[in-house]
Amino acid sequence: MKITNKFNLPQTLVALASKDYYSKGKSDYSATEIISPPRIQRLRRKHYEEIEQDVSDMIWMLLGTALHVVAERSAVDNHTNEERLSVEIDGVILSGAIDLQHHTNDGVEITDYKFTSAWALRSDKPEWEQQQNIYKYLVEKIKKEKVSKLSICAMIRDWSKAESLVKSDYPQAPIQMIEIPLWENDKIETFIRERIEIHRNSKVSEDWGDELPECTEEERWIRETKYALKKEGRKTAIRVLDTEEEAQVMLKELPEKDKGFIEIRKGEAIRCTRNYCGVSQWCSQYQNSIKEEV
Ligand code: SF4
Repeated sequence: MKITNKFNLPQTLVALASKDYYSKGKSDYSATEIISPPRIQRLRRKHYEEIEQDVSDMIWMLLGTALHVVAERSAVDNHTNEERLSVEIDGVILSGAIDLQHHTNDGVEITDYKFTSAWALRSDKPEWEQQQNIYKYLVEKIKKEKVSKLSICAMIRDWSKAESLVKSDYPQAPIQMIEIPLWENDKIETFIRERIEIHRNSKVSEDWGDELPECTEEERWIRETKYALKKEGRKTAIRVLDTEEEAQVMLKELPEKDKGFIEIRKGEAIRCTRNYCGVSQWCSQYQNSIKEEV
């Protein structure tokens, strides 16, 4: 991977960003890898040397790493920090690094630290549920300890005090604890087997990776088209609605003097369009979708 420094940041940050902190031990897959789309995994592996990333875009990854290092140093009774566990399923070694285990009388409470945005926090995060339940499976299978609770400790990068005061559905603090539903182990094992199979079967061809399974809408982080009801002279929308019909009904109800209109906020697959996956330029699925739109 090529690390760039477009904003002339200190070399110490460049050096930190250039270091490879990631280790999955001696396993074939990590929990994070297995839940992520095989298309992204394979394209990243294939184009690793060509992928460019600027230090400024890696700051949250660096802070995440720093948090793990600091957390590892804290010693609190009945708490285990940063433990990697592995299990063999269908001839494959699967591992997971668990940020925090709190050993209580009712069982182990697992917590994972995540940096996220306020918008992402309000959307469904199936990958959090999947990852946490794989950790549950590892603890119960390997350590033979019952898991009683799964949580995410979400740190909101773009949290705004001002927004928290005016929006009822906005996170009320920059750090939130989010409880994750517990799955039965049979369900987790079936899920793991399916994911192993999907990753095993995916291959990269030279012509833009057409043999790869496509990323689903959920995996592409689809943001639906919205209809903003606005009026002249006001910057913010009066209401943002899911359908044009709803927006039209509300537009008709506005007094004529308000000069209202509807602004269409076109939906998009933001993981693709903003290249959050890092491989959109080599992805046939995304490149074909652009051609279809023209
Ligand atoms: S560009 Fe979109 S479809 Fe292609 S790998 Fe990335 S997320 Fe998946």
